[in-house]
Amino acid sequence: MALRLYNTLSGKIEDFHPLDGNRVRMYACGPTVYDYGHIGNFRTFIAVDLLYRFLRQSGYDVRYVMNITDVDDKIIRNSARDGVTVQQYTAKFTQAFLEDSATLSIEPPVLVRATEHIDAMAGFIAELVKKGFAYRTDDGSYYFRIAKFPEYGKLSKKDFAGMTDGARVDLDEYEKDSARDFALWKAPKPGEASWNTSIGPGRPGWHIECSVMSMEQLGPSFDLHAGGEDLIFPHHENEIAQSEALSGKQLARYWFHSRFLLVEGQKMSKSLGNFFTIRDLVLRGHKPSSIRWLLTQVPYRNQLNFTFDGLKSAASSVEKLRNFRFRLTSTPFLAGATQPMAQLADETIAQIKSALDDDLNTAEAQAAMFDMLRKANTALDATEVRQDDVKPLLGALEKFDEIFGVLQDDDQPKMKAILDWARAEGREKEISPELMEVAGSAQLADEQVNRMLAEMEAARKTRNFKASDALRAELTAAGIIVENTKDGVRWRRK
Ligand code: AMP
Ligand code: ZN
Repeated sequence: MALRLYNTLSGKIEDFHPLDGNRVRMYACGPTVYDYGHIGNFRTFIAVDLLYRFLRQSGYDVRYVMNITDVDDKIIRNSARDGVTVQQYTAKFTQAFLEDSATLSIEPPVLVRATEHIDAMAGFIAELVKKGFAYRTDDGSYYFRIAKFPEYGKLSKKDFAGMTDGARVDLDEYEKDSARDFALWKAPKPGEASWNTSIGPGRPGWHIECSVMSMEQLGPSFDLHAGGEDLIFPHHENEIAQSEALSGKQLARYWFHSRFLLVEGQKMSKSLGNFFTIRDLVLRGHKPSSIRWLLTQVPYRNQLNFTFDGLKSAASSVEKLRNFRFRLTSTPFLAGATQPMAQLADETIAQIKSALDDDLNTAEAQAAMFDMLRKANTALDATEVRQDDVKPLLGALEKFDEIFGVLQDDDQPKMKAILDWARAEGREKEISPELMEVAGSAQLADEQVNRMLAEMEAARKTRNFKASDALRAELTAAGIIVENTKDGVRWRRK
């Protein structure tokens, strides 16, 4: 069986056939780098990472491109608020995105930045104007004329018949049913970043960025375009309109969208206090491998409900996989082979492949692996496993891990790096004793200890005992002994 994927464009599960033999060209909308990425963003990025890994494992030669949106409404607003350039504002979060992706063992795509394609965007818009699909307004902004593109709505299945020609929307993100001409290019506003280009000064709208970068990297028609379900409208609908109006060709054959993640049954939001970045979770002491595993457990089109209980059980699943490998590689076995173990490994590989071929059914693939673990562990307990059984069993485990990426035991250094980052950012208070424990021998520098003691004293004076206790716990966990003497607070290392 070959891969079958749900295609948002057709609304059906279809056989996947690339346009060009064995080559797959795919594009995913990347992060808008105005803040640290949250677990919802990484739910989607990991879903696409699994697809990328599985396509490669299935023998395809894959070119996977992802953009970094380093200019949009939010970025312009925040950089103006902070009095820094767009470049200064986004550099930190672009770097954080790269680090978080590596923390979660995401295979790096080819990354392209919007701000490096501004001239190409201006050229693209000029072409659209020439063909009658775009127009300039008096202030120097440019809009896409959706009435000229009758297929508008084909991805999101919206019927825009009878829409009013010429009504416009400026925002990068807007209401779900807005049948308006959308901004391709926005005239400069005082205090906001802008670029001088062949179509005049200003800055690009968000949608044009992806049309230009995807087509530049992958050609006017490519195989697959991915993102979270919120991007179907307007972002992807607008990309299709811009690109297909220009080229007259289908932009992407398959449209892949992952379902939005919930946290403890609710929509994630800062106001509900259930908003988590990858760093937040690591600061609480959770391992990157547990986070990755949890984000892969539910197939991408089903709603994943992120819970802390789920995160704990994810940690134990990863532990079981690693223990199994350890058991296979460290036990002395009798020579020879057994028929059932080799067969078990083969069957498991086949089951995993057929689960993933079935629209990336990760839950079923994982169940198949745990079934193998259970049976093989029973055989190991009964000393029924022989030396030559190790290779096929390990082979199945490794093949599974080419997709799921949790076997490599590198959580500790990754957590240590986040601990160091939190200190450098002055976020010591968020560091949990659990993280201190996992990150291990991480010693605090003298001046950090002094600073924390001063903060502890200040907290105590304002009767904020929760904060002072947390600081003390952190110091204790780092092996710092604090003594209250009549001369004041003294400390020493354990
Ligand atoms: P953004 O940085 O907002 O442009 O989003 C980057 C990616 O994360 C896009 O593909 C979004 O669709 C996706 N995304 C944002 N929030 C969630 C969520 N709660 N669950 C799943 N995907 C999300
Ligand atoms: Zn995009």
